[in-house]
Amino acid sequence: MNLQNPCQSDPGIASTSHPGKLFILSAPSGTGKTTLRKALLTHFQDILYSVSTTTRKPRLGEENGRDYHFLSKDDFVRGIALDQWAEWAKVHDNYYGTPAEFLDTQLAVGKEILLDIDVQGTIQILKRYPDSITIFIMPPSLDTLKKRMEARGTDSPSVIEKRLMNAKDEMAKKDLYRHIMVNDSLEKAKAELISIVEFYRRNTD
Ligand code: 5GP
Repeated sequence: MNLQNPCQSDPGIASTSHPGKLFILSAPSGTGKTTLRKALLTHFQDILYSVSTTTRKPRLGEENGRDYHFLSKDDFVRGIALDQWAEWAKVHDNYYGTPAEFLDTQLAVGKEILLDIDVQGTIQILKRYPDSITIFIMPPSLDTLKKRMEARGTDSPSVIEKRLMNAKDEMAKKDLYRHIMVNDSLEKAKAELISIVEFYRRNTD
């Protein structure tokens, strides 16, 4: 375990205690995180998924309210002023945020919640919920990541370049996470994720 929680050394940051459990999944874009997240939620049907809000355009097959809450930039920025986001970040020129009310309400009644957010967001969530279980998924290599992004065919070469730079930055911060795993085989990674959740169920119930 190698969690370095920014809150633990900063008594000035308010945190919320609750009976629920928060699992945070982060990975560079193209690592297979969405597939793994969906597999985890299929396996554990009682874990709630925190649907993020974003200002980016929906991709083919994405549904408002299921994959993301798609919002205009103006409305998102208004939400910042109204303290609606438990955390928010600007990723690849778009805003992303976690609705605070959903988290606070569900954690208060003891639910387990899964968040799929980036590193900037994780740092903010750890300040608010220091006991979050953080998991970082690494690609086998940056080259594999590039090939996966190209194969996905959803982004232009310049966007891919930007996402790769972002991936390098994120991977440099992986030690902020309690668990670090490599997605070199989907089945193996899925089994590893399931065993992490089962570990916390056994040890904190
Ligand atoms: P994508 O646009 O590919 O769905 O997501 C891009 C990145 O934004 C991913 O790394 C994803 O984890 C991150 N992301 C998605 N939702 C949120 C959120 O609510 N907050 C933060 N900080 N990052 C998010």
